Amino acid sequence: MRKKLAAGNWKMNGTTASLAEVDALLAAHPAPGCEILLCPPATLVSAMSARIGDGPIHTGGQDCHAEPSGAHTGDIAAGMLVDAGASHVILGHSERRQDHNESDKDVRNKAKAAIAAGLVAVVCCGESDAEREAMNTLEIISGQLAGSIPDNVTGENLVVAYEPIWAIGTGKVPTLDQIGEVHDFIRTQLERRFGEGVGRSVRLLYGGSVKPSNADDIFAVSNVDGALVGGASLKAADFSGIITALD
Ligand code: PEP
Repeated sequence: MRKKLAAGNWKMNGTTASLAEVDALLAAHPAPGCEILLCPPATLVSAMSARIGDGPIHTGGQDCHAEPSGAHTGDIAAGMLVDAGASHVILGHSERRQDHNESDKDVRNKAKAAIAAGLVAVVCCGESDAEREAMNTLEIISGQLAGSIPDNVTGENLVVAYEPIWAIGTGKVPTLDQIGEVHDFIRTQLERRFGEGVGRSVRLLYGGSVKPSNADDIFAVSNVDGALVGGASLKAADFSGIITALD
């Protein structure tokens, strides 16, 4: 049985004052039935994880470098995230793929480093508007999964997030049939490559304009084990509504 996961990606938002949102979430969900993960900017990982302490929310990074240390100005190694209190890291988000030209190979190397450091890698995939219009969605997803996910994964160290690029931050959401089709496809791809045991234990998240008002419907879709949430994870009141829909 896969445990549901509500993951929030704060992106480049938040300062120390924003940690009040974490207090509000902890107060609203003292013993959640699902897992909760918040990925703040790197500057807040340590303070957030200290603030949560033994509480039921995990802290994660939004990226890591593939190397454990060295001359990489501005980058953060997976082991540094662990040292700061993170248990997860988002990798291959479409904004990283676009803004930093990250390739599937880059994402795979980062995922290897993350897993070696003891982090759960939340690997993102998703098609652009043009790719969906050209009916290439499943081909794109298949290529991203094959290229971005390393070989040594398990249900414990990997989560896959399906995030159609055209749905991120736009308020546009695929139909439930479209979400179901891609999640079923990802599940089948994972089972083929890693065997049924691992393939069925990896959690699949949907991401792209998830809100409290559409969460119930999205979470009822087969093979959707939770959500990766951007904008609606910034305010405890919104994220709480999504967590409640999963609980
Ligand atoms: C995201 O960036 O991962 C995301 C899903 O953003 P939003 O929820 O704002 O669409």
